[in-house]
Amino acid sequence: MNFHVLTLFPDMIRDGLMASITGRAIKAGIISLEVVNIRDYTENKHKKVDDYPYGGGAGMLMQAQPVYDAWEAVNRRIGTEKKTRVVFLSPQGNTFNQHMAKEFAKEEDLIFLCGHYEGIDERVLEEIVTDQVSIGDYVLTGGELPAMVMIDAVSRMVPGVLSNQESGVSESFSEHLLEYPQYSRPEVWKEKKVPAILLSGDHKKVEEWRLEQSLERTKRLRPDLYEKWAAENQEYFVRKAKKEERLRRKLEKRLNCCTTHQGV
Ligand code: SAM
Repeated sequence: MNFHVLTLFPDMIRDGLMASITGRAIKAGIISLEVVNIRDYTENKHKKVDDYPYGGGAGMLMQAQPVYDAWEAVNRRIGTEKKTRVVFLSPQGNTFNQHMAKEFAKEEDLIFLCGHYEGIDERVLEEIVTDQVSIGDYVLTGGELPAMVMIDAVSRMVPGVLSNQESGVSESFSEHLLEYPQYSRPEVWKEKKVPAILLSGDHKKVEEWRLEQSLERTKRLRPDLYEKWAAENQEYFVRKAKKEERLRRKLEKRLNCCTTHQGV
């Protein structure tokens, strides 16, 4: 998968993404990162890329021309028939989530447009943007951090980026559930023991325990997500009720049996 970032601060993007897991994936050629400095495309002889907003108001606006030309150059390099999606990072967009990360990870190429100052001239946004995405209801100084947040989350959904693909599948928000608690060595730390079930070697029981923990945690911390999971997984509750009924009958039988024996 190829990420292309249009920005006025290319070093920020490179420094942020060339480290850790995304950096390793870029070096391994699993994903690629093209960072384009919008300033390189300005026709202004002083390399200016911003100007005052018409009608007045605070701050400066990024002008349409350099943004459009930078986008055109990237598109030419991508060179596909299909129109590449252009994600404009904006506090006015739809809030980014794990589902969107999975969807974006299906694309071959993605272009990210980072605003700065008071934003970007509306006309170029109308011309090139296909998706407006926010990373939350607060205003940042620029779209660079949001672009890095998105590229990080999308990359993790690209096969081969994580060394163990499983860890991307069972994490928080996959299937609406938060992840279960995890423990590593030592078995006892500050008198706190690792739950015995995790040391049992019984994989089926471990899976059941983890699901129960995830459900308990999601219900407590994110009831909105729990509701979604519950609505989509009614059969889980039916199965659970049946299992509990079977256990109850078994116990009852055992108790009856004991009292009959005692009676004899
Ligand atoms: N005047 C704009 C408004 O009120 O919508 C805010 C401009 S903001 C100071 C500068 C740039 O930062 C934006 O164009 C956008 O690219 C980026 N940005 C700021 N907050 C963001 C957020 N929550 N999510 C995504 N991008 C954001």
